[in-house]
Formats: sequence, structure tokens, C-alpha cells
Amino acid sequence: MLNGTKIFCTSGLMAAEKSEGFVVVWATVDRSAGRAGIKAFVVEAGTAGMYVTKVENKLGIRASDTATLVFEDCRVPLANILGSPEVPKTSEGFKGVMATFDATRPIVAASAIGVGRAALDFVNETLSEHGITIRYGAPPHKLTALERDVMDMEAQLEAARLLTWRAAWMMDNGMRNNLEASMAKAKAGLAVTLITQKAVELLGPLGYSRQLLLEKWMRDAKINDIFEGTQQINQLIVARRILGYSSKELS
Ligand SMILES: Cc1cc2nc3c(=O)[nH]c(=O)nc-3n(C[C@H](O)[C@H](O)[C@H](O)COP(=O)(O)OP(=O)(O)OC[C@H]3O[C@@H](n4cnc5c(N)ncnc54)[C@H](O)[C@@H]3O)c2cc1C
Repeated sequence: MLNGTKIFCTSGLMAAEKSEGFVVVWATVDRSAGRAGIKAFVVEAGTAGMYVTKVENKLGIRASDTATLVFEDCRVPLANILGSPEVPKTSEGFKGVMATFDATRPIVAASAIGVGRAALDFVNETLSEHGITIRYGAPPHKLTALERDVMDMEAQLEAARLLTWRAAWMMDNGMRNNLEASMAKAKAGLAVTLITQKAVELLGPLGYSRQLLLEKWMRDAKINDIFEGTQQINQLIVARRILGYSSKELS
């Protein structure tokens, strides 16, 4: 029986009530066992005792709902537990659960890169329509502010893309990518935020207008810097892994 509330569930309304989908819930079955007592459950849409109490009105990603899910004496069949129902002696299983981030962080990074690329492509197309070309080989002191901005946006995007490809490639090849997934996510979330803000800025008032998609991309960008671990938390993970500190030693 599940009891509790989870705020900010992506597609929570769609998964729990508006489709024949399901929700994956991580819940504690044995508090005395600490992290080892956490299990994952599949709760099918329409299960009695699971309901939505709020749908967020958000800055961006408004095409996807973000809901508060409440579980009240929500009965889940034994067969819907992911993995063994036994509570193990160690928290190794929980480490496995956390490893799902190694797969999802590169996905969020890829989504950030898609938004950043759209904004950058739009800027480049608009500049070329106005007969402006970026002089890549020019000496730095001869570059215009605009050229510097566009080159910086391109460098940010390319760095994020390469980090993301590496993290995804390692995952695909069965290699541990915890460090690389956090690097990609931290970089891509920051890069897309900077790129889309700069794109709005470079296009002047039109960039801010709803006539174009730039303002939407700017609003959509920031979430990539927040969910699946914020930029700060991913930087913390990177620092821990590089310096060899545990989470207790570096928080
Ligand atoms: C639109 C949206 C959809 C979401 N969807 C889901 C979902 O489907 N499933 C799900 O489980 N979660 C979801 N979330 C939750 C999201 O993953 C978390 O909000 C996010 O990871 C931040 O965690 P928090 O809310 O605990 O932030 P907090 O820990 O309260 O952090 C607040 C701020 O403090 C900073 N901070 C915290 N600790 C440190 C530290 N040690 N050092 C430096 N800075 C620090 C954070 O980086 C952040 O900027 C969603 C959130 C949003 C906004």
C-alpha cells in the first residue's frame, strides 16, 4: 500500500489519469533499512488511491504537464515491484536505482542541445538574410561584438554536444558513465540557457516577441538546467568523482 505525495511529476497527469500509461514510484518499504529499504513500483493509470491534486502553471515546457501525485492507501500488486520484493542487507540496489540518472542525464543534455541548436540556427539564418557573415578567420581584435557572441554560442553548443555524445556512447557500450553523464548535463543545461538568452538579445525586440519561437525556446531552455539534477548538483558530482571525495566529504 503506497502513501505519500510527489510534487513536480513530469507528465504526471497524462500518465496517471489521461492515458492507459503508468507511473514508476520509488517508495520506502522499510524505514529502518535506510536506502536499502527503497523499492520501485509500477502503478498503472487509474489505480484506486492514486490521484492528481495540482497541475503546475509553468514558465516553459508548457506542452508537457507537471503534476502533483498523491497516493492514499494505494494498493499495488506484488508483481508490479521492479526487482526483488526482499529488502537487502546493503544499499547496493539503491545505487542501481541512482544509476538510471546515468542514462537520463545524457537524454536531458540532448534535449538541451536540440533547443540550443534551433535558437542558434535561427540567429544564423536571420543574420545571413541581412547579409551579415561571421568572419571565422579574422584576428580576435578585429571581430565585432556580434561575431564574438555567435562564435561563443557555437563553441558552447559544440562543447555540450561532444560531452553528450561521449556520455551516450559510453552508456551504449556498457561503460560506467556517471562522471561523463553529469558533465554533459551540467554543461548542456548551462549552454542552452546562455545560448537562448543571447539569441533573444541579438534579435532585439523581435527576439522578445511571441511572433517568433525564440522567446519560447528561452523559456523552455531553463528546465534542462534544473531537472534530472540541477547544474550545481551535477557539478558537485563531477567534483566528487574527480577529487575522489564521498558525498559526506563534499556536499
Ligand atoms: C518542470 C519540472 C518537472 C519535474 N519533473 C520531475 C519528475 O518527473 N520526477 C522527479 O522526480 N522530479 C521532477 N522534478 C524535480 C526536479 O528534478 C528537482 O526540482 C530538481 O532536481 C531540484 O531539486 P530540488 O527541488 O530538491 O532543489 P533544491 O535542493 O531545493 O535546490 C534549490 C537550489 O539550491 C541548489 N542547491 C541545492 N543543494 C546544493 C548544494 N549542495 N550545492 C550547491 N547548490 C545547491 C540547487 O542547485 C537549486 O538551484 C521536476 C521539476 C520541475 C521544475
